[in-house]
Amino acid sequence: MQSIIQVTGLQKSYAGQRVVDGLDLSIHKGECFGLLGPNGAGKTTTLRMLLGLIAPDAGEVTLLGLPVPQAAREARIRVGVVPQMDNLDPDFTVAENLLVYGRYFGLTDGEVEARIPSLLEFANLTNKRDAKVPTLSGGMKRRLTLARALVNDPDVIFLDEPTTGLDPQARHLIWQRLRELTQQGKTLLLTTHFMDEAERLCHRLAVMDNGRLISQGSPRELIEQNIEPQVVEVFGETSAEWANEHAAKYAQRFELSGESAFCYVQDAQPLVAHLQAQSALRYVHRPANLEDVFLKLTGREMRE
Ligand code: ADP
Repeated sequence: MQSIIQVTGLQKSYAGQRVVDGLDLSIHKGECFGLLGPNGAGKTTTLRMLLGLIAPDAGEVTLLGLPVPQAAREARIRVGVVPQMDNLDPDFTVAENLLVYGRYFGLTDGEVEARIPSLLEFANLTNKRDAKVPTLSGGMKRRLTLARALVNDPDVIFLDEPTTGLDPQARHLIWQRLRELTQQGKTLLLTTHFMDEAERLCHRLAVMDNGRLISQGSPRELIEQNIEPQVVEVFGETSAEWANEHAAKYAQRFELSGESAFCYVQDAQPLVAHLQAQSALRYVHRPANLEDVFLKLTGREMRE
């Protein structure tokens, strides 16, 4: 399998604090790879080192076969970036934003002009070609940022939280487009806080915390390796009391969080039968998902 991004022993410290602490990654051609982790885990610092925007203290990065940061400029000609915050030029129209961005890659206006119709079609923005950026909705701006990242027909696209702040319709459209890109053989590296997004889009995922990789695999593998297959969430004022007294009889593992008890079980039927007789408690029975894995691996306490 062709490796598009290869990372070994990557390290970075700020003010004596290791924020990336010995990272190894191998990302293959045509895959969508997700980097997950709570705030402060080191995801953005990692992306910036992979792009050669900041230098690592130690370790090696190869991007599209080129050493980074030494040959980062050359590698970045074949890379697209969708940053966390939209940084479109508000004074320009949709088409002008694409033209100006193309110039950073040494493309002539004529070359970009020739690509604009297909980029706008991809982004569902054909009828917004001459609209100024401030008149676009949040979803349109994100789609324009994605189209802009494709102006140089990149082989790899870095996406830092591509759907944060979007409504469900806008997210689904972005997901559809990202799938089309991997089907075309492009490689995607994305960060996200949405576990449903990661589960749906990513072929493989790495979970990071405190600068280290703590688990890696396909969404299904991460769920199977880390968590019981069924979850029963029990809600109500007396849920903690109920859980402390009864949960261990039915569940392999349980966690309390506010007025909810999360019960992780191999077989939910005995627990569900028991709960049906408890009128003070409500419950939801569902299959385990990536969010359960994430919370198990990184904890339920808030990170600022
Ligand atoms: P994430 O993207 O996972 O939220 P970051 O890579 O942004 O994490 O940050 C990891 C840690 O590094 C955080 O504690 C953050 O405060 C720190 N950090 C990031 N960039 C800098 C910087 N330029 N100077 C000092 N500290 C930084």
